[in-house]
Amino acid sequence: MNLLIKNVTIVPMDGKEEVCKDTNIYVEEDKIIHIGELRGDIKVDRIINGKNKVAIPGLVNAHTHIGMSLFRNYADDLPLHEWLTQKIWPAEAKLTAEDVYWGSLLSMVEMIQSGTTTFCDMYFFMDEVGRGLEEAGIRGVLTRGLIEEKGKEEEKLNDTRNLYKDWNGRGDGRIKVMVSPHAPYTCSAAYLERIIDLAKELNTGIHIHLSETKKEVEDSFKELHKSPIKHVYDLGLFKLPTVAAHCVHVDDDDIEILKENNVSPVNNPSSNLKLASGFAPIDKMLKKGINVALGTDGSSSNNNLNMFEEIHLASIVNKAVNMDAISVPAISALEMATINGAKALLWDKEIGSIEVGKKADIVLMDMDKPHLYPLHNIVSSLAYSVQGSDVDTVIVDGNIIMENREIKTLDVEKIIYNADKASKNLINR
Ligand SMILES: [Zn+2]
Repeated sequence: MNLLIKNVTIVPMDGKEEVCKDTNIYVEEDKIIHIGELRGDIKVDRIINGKNKVAIPGLVNAHTHIGMSLFRNYADDLPLHEWLTQKIWPAEAKLTAEDVYWGSLLSMVEMIQSGTTTFCDMYFFMDEVGRGLEEAGIRGVLTRGLIEEKGKEEEKLNDTRNLYKDWNGRGDGRIKVMVSPHAPYTCSAAYLERIIDLAKELNTGIHIHLSETKKEVEDSFKELHKSPIKHVYDLGLFKLPTVAAHCVHVDDDDIEILKENNVSPVNNPSSNLKLASGFAPIDKMLKKGINVALGTDGSSSNNNLNMFEEIHLASIVNKAVNMDAISVPAISALEMATINGAKALLWDKEIGSIEVGKKADIVLMDMDKPHLYPLHNIVSSLAYSVQGSDVDTVIVDGNIIMENREIKTLDVEKIIYNADKASKNLINR
């Protein structure tokens, strides 16, 4: 399908322009072919009126556990360790493939409605997430979270191997697979080494949690006399492209290692605030030239998947932490949620900005809302005033996934019904 978005304002996130006003985007099949004045030679199947709309690149949620929407508001106001060991892990042990399928679809509905077109997921029963992804028509990185368990080490590695074989490149290339050791505190050095070998064998990247809590870092210094980041660096993990969720408790040596090895940390401000994990030194990392991406984490530690909330927090929280109102300006927070996320997921040649030649992953924001007037500064508005519910239209790979807030690819009512049922059954089992 050839698609024309007419008279639209673009925030392209291409590193050159901040805003292009009243222009046109022409899409042929899955790609952006032309931006600007209309040419005579174009053949159009569909026209979208861009009046009062702002086009942004589809948002990239670089760290999440989407099946966890089933545990939304199930266990709150607890510290990370208790939350994980007493509430989440016992409930997760009862999860079935079907549960994860419905929970993941519920999350995909929420992501589409709030402008996320690409996500990086760490969970299990990942075939179900892949199934949902194909149906939803959006983009994602599947990673099977590996927690070392006696007797199941090989089985879990094989899960990842099969996941890669079955899903990498599927959905017209909208699906990728990476390798995912859950964290250095849930995988021994020996297991991490086997996981690194597997990533090398599959020639793919790593998705891991690193230095999320003070306790994790203190324990690492007690046991290994070094930080979790130094530990995995010494094991050779950063020889592979790495997406490192959190990186909250990092010192200058850690930051140097992240920079030297092109690691992409993922800031999850809501989760870090809610679990009282602390404040990642985002401003410092960005100033070092580190590619910091943005994520929601799972919706039981957030408790939603609305990236606009994360953009907002990433910007304002760091200003307060640094006592510096210039820290993490609006445009940097938007970069974290778009082009930086695309770079982290090794996808920036295709997505993360609105540019000729890139995939048409475009979100149209409805700016004709009382809380968005007057529109003095569009970039500021996107970071500080816009809500996820202002997303009007979502296009992925040139396909219209949502228009006027109506999702075209998924049966939302059926998904809500089944996810709710699955969650209630699970808690009562
Ligand atoms: Zn996480």
